[in-house]
Amino acid sequence: PDDVLHQIAAQKSRTVNVAFVGNPNCGKTSLFNIASGSHEKVGNYSGVTVDAKEGHFDFKGYHFRIVDLPGTYSLSAYSPEELFVRRHIIDKMPDVIINVIDSSNLERNLYLTTQLIDMNVRMVCALNMYDELQQSGNTLDYHTLGTLLGVPMVPTVARTGRGIDELFQTIISLYEGDRIPRDASQTPLARHIHINHGTELERSIEAVRATIVPHPDLRARYSTRFLAIKLLENDKTVERIITALPDGTDIINTRNREQERIKTTLGEETEQAITDAKYGFIAGALRETYHDRHLDRGKLTRIIDLIVTNRYLGYPIFFLLLYIMFQCTFAIGQYPMDWIEAGVGALGEFIEAQMAPGPFKALLIDGIIGGVGGVIVFLPNILILYFFISLLEDSGYMARAAFIMDKIMHKMGLHGKSFIPLIMGFGCNVPAIMATRMIENRKCRLITMLIGPFMSCSARLPIYLLLVGAFFPNHASLVLLSIYAIGILLSVIFARIFSRFLVKGDDTPFVMELPPYRLPTAKAILRHTWEKGVQYLKKMGGIILVASLIVWALGYYPNHDAYPTQVEQQENSYIGRLGKAIEPVIAPVGFDWKLGIGILTGVGAKELVVSTLGVLYADDAEAEAESLGHRIPITPLVAFGYMLFVLVYFPCIATLAAIKGETGSWRWGLFSAVYTTVLAWILAFAVFQIGSLFG
Ligand code: GDP
Ligand code: MG
Repeated sequence: PDDVLHQIAAQKSRTVNVAFVGNPNCGKTSLFNIASGSHEKVGNYSGVTVDAKEGHFDFKGYHFRIVDLPGTYSLSAYSPEELFVRRHIIDKMPDVIINVIDSSNLERNLYLTTQLIDMNVRMVCALNMYDELQQSGNTLDYHTLGTLLGVPMVPTVARTGRGIDELFQTIISLYEGDRIPRDASQTPLARHIHINHGTELERSIEAVRATIVPHPDLRARYSTRFLAIKLLENDKTVERIITALPDGTDIINTRNREQERIKTTLGEETEQAITDAKYGFIAGALRETYHDRHLDRGKLTRIIDLIVTNRYLGYPIFFLLLYIMFQCTFAIGQYPMDWIEAGVGALGEFIEAQMAPGPFKALLIDGIIGGVGGVIVFLPNILILYFFISLLEDSGYMARAAFIMDKIMHKMGLHGKSFIPLIMGFGCNVPAIMATRMIENRKCRLITMLIGPFMSCSARLPIYLLLVGAFFPNHASLVLLSIYAIGILLSVIFARIFSRFLVKGDDTPFVMELPPYRLPTAKAILRHTWEKGVQYLKKMGGIILVASLIVWALGYYPNHDAYPTQVEQQENSYIGRLGKAIEPVIAPVGFDWKLGIGILTGVGAKELVVSTLGVLYADDAEAEAESLGHRIPITPLVAFGYMLFVLVYFPCIATLAAIKGETGSWRWGLFSAVYTTVLAWILAFAVFQIGSLFG
């Protein structure tokens, strides 16, 4: 009798509760009938306005209790069916949910799937009516789709019974968790993903979620993320649950504030914005996995997408936009840049005329105005660049850019989303590092941060211009281009090295959303531009001020007035001695101590290299006659090596601080500083030594 009891116990624990959820007419009942078939009774639930049928059958030693729920398009609480299905999922807690999908109408059917993902339930997708999909000639890479969504997908045809066994086999695997080894090539492993609703909505979801998290009783029953999303969607049922809490009004107030914010930044109601974001997610997932043989009907978004994400047209369009963006940044930026430069110069002259000579005056003019002024000059460029980036982001185009770059970036071990921070790096590496936040995958994110500084930022440009103008007047643009190209090449090489050997982590694929295009609101654009500008000013302003003061003081002291010429004063200043001290290290690459000091100050900010060289090579009388570049007594070979060195070595202090801020530790910042500096030395050494052989 003991044995029998054991058997019964084992039998009982092996009862798997399964629920069919799906749109109306996707074939739930057909699947239900074919699964429960001739076995057991088929009963009706009563007492509710809508019905659910229950059936039983055995398969591979497991007893299945399956429930056929009414069809719904979504899980909002607008119709009794929707409410009923949601209540069933939450109250009855089925072991596994079968999300039945009509494969001939994927986009609409997957909307329900995204909501089930929000609920964080264990589920499998039955891609039903797969026969119709195949007949239409369209193709679906359901394996990849399943991997992207983190939900196993099994094609089924309820009419013929095709795929039913695989479906329930997958359910058993899900039910048993890791206990049964699975063939990963057949059905992708289930994992919980977050539907990315875009920066603004995610910020709101997180804000509301944070107010719900302190309630353990809610956490036990619901996904807090699901509650937050539903609350933002004005879901009445969830509102009722929340208002019953002691701090319910606070939570609702937070919700209202966030809805207000979304309305002003996105220009639409939160509920609509969430729906749009979900369809953007689906569009992105399908663009990668689903190929419609028939040319797309309707919908402007889809037509534009066909063009801008086209295999051949996508790249030229993208590079044209980039070209326009950079052209505007530098061409339009030139005017305010000139004004600021004139203003800074006038301020310096004013102080020059008003104050008596002395250390304090030198500090004001050379230290503060020289250093900080040199950086403020770049502010218009930065703001214009951010204006364009915000425009591209908010209009929805950036998502497409990431989409078309995805394949190329994957070859580097990165992801399409890494591309945007890298592009921003050409402006300034600090906001570029911060922009890596949008990359969900940790490994991708870290590598993007590490190779980001190879994108030559605008602060390095003045150095190139100076040296190229003096040493390569006939091949100026070619040499300049080669420097940028070398930077890009290095980033490709090191991305591959890092992803293979250094940074651990898996390459879980994720969906690249294709949100609907929208006309960006002026308010949102200006706010985003301003936010980024302030970040730049804060980070750069603080560090550059301190760095320029230090450089100035090291160059001014000690015994400033004890020397007859400026050259001698420089050589004997702290910075001069420092330069002499590092001479043995930089001699093999062909640099003299003045160039060495330029490199040292560039650690603070790359803008400081030119201003430092300007001070150091400000020789006596005839100096004024020639431009700075011609006063530097080096060969073109060394000049090229120097540019290369400046390109590669040490991302500036502000960038390191940003890497530290984003990774949470100095470790990666330090690593970045060391490997780039060593690499820079090796490259400059190779250029100098090999070039000398031919010279
Ligand atoms: P429900 O509303 O989700 O329960 O869907 P039903 O099970 O009532 O099916 C709706 C219609 O789709 C019926 O006419 C079925 O015969 C048909 N159907 C169901 N599954 C399939 C399938 O896999 N392939 C094809 N071609 N038709 C199917
Ligand atoms: Mg039905």
